[in-house]
Amino acid sequence: MADHREFARDMDLFHFEEHSPGMVFWHPQGLRLFHSVENLMRHVYQAHDFEEVRSPIALSRSLWERSGHWEKFRQGMFVVGSVAKADNAAADDESAVIRPDYALKPMSCPAHIAIYQSHKRSYREHPMRLMEFGICHRNELSGTLSGCMRLRQFVQDDAHIFCRESDVQGEIGNFLKMVQQIYKAFGYEQFSLQISLRPQQRLGSDHLWDRAESLLIAAVQSLGHSYQLAPNEGAFYGPKLEISLQDQWGRSWQCGTFQIDFNLPQVFDLAFVNEQGDLERPVMLHQAVLGSLERWIGILLEHHRGILPVWVAPTQIAIASISDKASIWAKAIFSRLRQLQIRAELYNEDGTISKKIRALSKRRIPLIAIVGEQEANSQTLNLRCLGASEQQEMSLAQLEQRLLQSNLKF
Ligand SMILES: [Zn+2]
Repeated sequence: MADHREFARDMDLFHFEEHSPGMVFWHPQGLRLFHSVENLMRHVYQAHDFEEVRSPIALSRSLWERSGHWEKFRQGMFVVGSVAKADNAAADDESAVIRPDYALKPMSCPAHIAIYQSHKRSYREHPMRLMEFGICHRNELSGTLSGCMRLRQFVQDDAHIFCRESDVQGEIGNFLKMVQQIYKAFGYEQFSLQISLRPQQRLGSDHLWDRAESLLIAAVQSLGHSYQLAPNEGAFYGPKLEISLQDQWGRSWQCGTFQIDFNLPQVFDLAFVNEQGDLERPVMLHQAVLGSLERWIGILLEHHRGILPVWVAPTQIAIASISDKASIWAKAIFSRLRQLQIRAELYNEDGTISKKIRALSKRRIPLIAIVGEQEANSQTLNLRCLGASEQQEMSLAQLEQRLLQSNLKF
């Protein structure tokens, strides 16, 4: 089976360089694809009452010490130093020391806690749902890096909900609805659930872990989903519900995750004012539907063998004319589709029509409109779908309708 990096080469999506191992150089076509995925997620998160935020990628060591990441996760973080002179250095000493004052965030949790704590919170604001396309860095071992499937820098749909314990079941139900809706839109019909329990290395008392684990299990059971239990595989701050999708090659990929966390609210002393005017501690829920967007795109390319659904394809349709006489009509079609914000391309390379179709097929462009003199005279076009043998003669209005229908509606 072809590797996603081969499709990326044929489609001119992205490449890797040895001076930035585990990090992606996105090309114009690839960034279009990335933006289509991101825009869908933004839309769905908004529809489920999440507010988008953005936080810095570097946060101070003292914050990571407080969150527990410095102690439990430091090997996996990129520590950023600031250059300074040693305290005892002479005035003319040119040597410098690097102070490890910051770390690049491996996840956005402490940053969203900072947003929560930026002013006094009321029960009226809860559940408070924040989401970020968080740029995360994790210092994975170089031998484990594998295209988009394991990276050192990636963007994840990083969401946090601050709420009451009584809200948790509703939020899990909401999360599973988003998972179902989004996975289906990308062409996945099946996924499975796993509940990962407390790991050896963890924050907090057993009493809090008992509460969080039983709450998660009860919520998933009451929603009628079957699941598997995985001892020792939870996050260090809470148990995890993990979603794995099945691709068309029978492989399973863990992508979505939802975590119940009583520990970080305690560590950061989070509180809101309740109906009685008293301070109450929220529960923190962590969620990601896709996880790393780069990895999601890698899995998607392999699942569809590069032939992506029209709504997400970087170039949705190419218009190729057979003769110079037809080129004015081809340009008119192109301009009209661009007006409708369809990602269309006017294909101007020389060569026979079969050569043009071969080149466009290699780039996995899902739709090709062929325009010859006959089509120019009748103001029609000949539409071919990649991977299907039939061709269809249609008017421009019919093509417009077909393309607009392929856009997703949520
Ligand atoms: Zn988190």
